[in-house]
Amino acid sequence: MRSFEYASPETEAEALELLAEHGGNTAVLAGGTDLMNLLKRDVVQPARVVDIKNISSLRGIKLHDNGLLIGASTTLDELNESALAADYRSLTDVIEGIRSIQITANGTLAGDLCQLPHCWYYRNGHGLLAMQNGESLVATGDNRYHAILGNSGPAKFVSSSRFAPPMIAWDAKVRVVRRQWSVVSGQLPNATGNGQRTTDLHEEWLPLEYFFITPKTNSQGVTVLKPGQLITHLWLPAAQETRSATYEVLQLEGLDQPQVSAAACVGIEGGIVRTAKIVLGHVAPTPWIAHEASRWLVGQKLTADTAETAGQIALAKATPLSQNDYKVQQAQTAVKRALLKATNQLGEVL
Ligand SMILES: Cc1cc2nc3c(=O)[nH]c(=O)nc-3n(C[C@H](O)[C@H](O)[C@H](O)COP(=O)(O)OP(=O)(O)OC[C@H]3O[C@@H](n4cnc5c(N)ncnc54)[C@H](O)[C@@H]3O)c2cc1C
Repeated sequence: MRSFEYASPETEAEALELLAEHGGNTAVLAGGTDLMNLLKRDVVQPARVVDIKNISSLRGIKLHDNGLLIGASTTLDELNESALAADYRSLTDVIEGIRSIQITANGTLAGDLCQLPHCWYYRNGHGLLAMQNGESLVATGDNRYHAILGNSGPAKFVSSSRFAPPMIAWDAKVRVVRRQWSVVSGQLPNATGNGQRTTDLHEEWLPLEYFFITPKTNSQGVTVLKPGQLITHLWLPAAQETRSATYEVLQLEGLDQPQVSAAACVGIEGGIVRTAKIVLGHVAPTPWIAHEASRWLVGQKLTADTAETAGQIALAKATPLSQNDYKVQQAQTAVKRALLKATNQLGEVL
């Protein structure tokens, strides 16, 4: 492993100062369960690692602004044990599926959202797009776990986040902060800027569905986060009557990445679906909102048949690669089962 500086700030402002130095060639360390692997494999080479675990404002779960505010460094165990989070079943479904006490004790919510793709070409140093001599290694190689949607461009990995699909289905928002320079009025900046400028903390609340991007070059990331930026909180609207569930297809009994997942939030009145949002995971370079299937479901009674049709609509435009058409059927079934699980009907069809 290469050497790097280690810093452990206690405030968001200090963290931003530390992240901005070295030309932004720095990395945020939360639980470290993903970042440490990337450092060991030399996939990322930051000059400084900024450990955010001692920033108390990034921890905890509380009611806020007619919803739930979750600190970015909240661990998966803390989320699971929170009575306030109990109404968000699609999130606790994910925690149940992780099956590793090490990951749930140390892994954090923001760390999950920002984890880099588990694509084996990427993890073995071929870059996010895995191109060699102008050819996609994924298209011509072993692509059994790769994208079946959104894969017409050079990116063919799948988004690894397990919490992004349920959180997007909940219309979650993410708070991103960065440093903002401002010139002190009446003073001209000198060459170094010392004494003439102050830094403010600039915050932005972004719908989580706009947080993820599909890179077109290896230098682009998988999220809108720029060097030096930090996620501080996630916000979820009040659960009210919305029912939710996540269904993940896991190959192993132990720790495993899902092959596909589907998360659903549905609002039902008088036996009829009034609102629906279905989001697929591990099928595309970003979490994949099944817009057409979600729209189709509104106005229907949620039954095994309509849930199945929603799954078919969600995958109607799938473009599997040479070795992963099995994922289309899996994803259709995941949508059906997430919808039935959300409405406590899954036991009737299994
Ligand atoms: C052996 C092993 C197996 C794993 N298996 C699985 C698995 O089966 N399924 C699965 O989903 N995950 C798996 N993971 C991945 C990982 O453990 C989880 O995704 C975890 O939630 C990541 O959280 P973390 O806090 O440890 O992230 P870290 O490793 O600390 O960070 C992950 C990424 O997020 C960035 N980051 C973290 N916090 C912030 C923030 N607040 N603002 C900006 N950027 C931030 C980091 O810079 C880094 O790029 C595994 C990890 C290990 C070590």
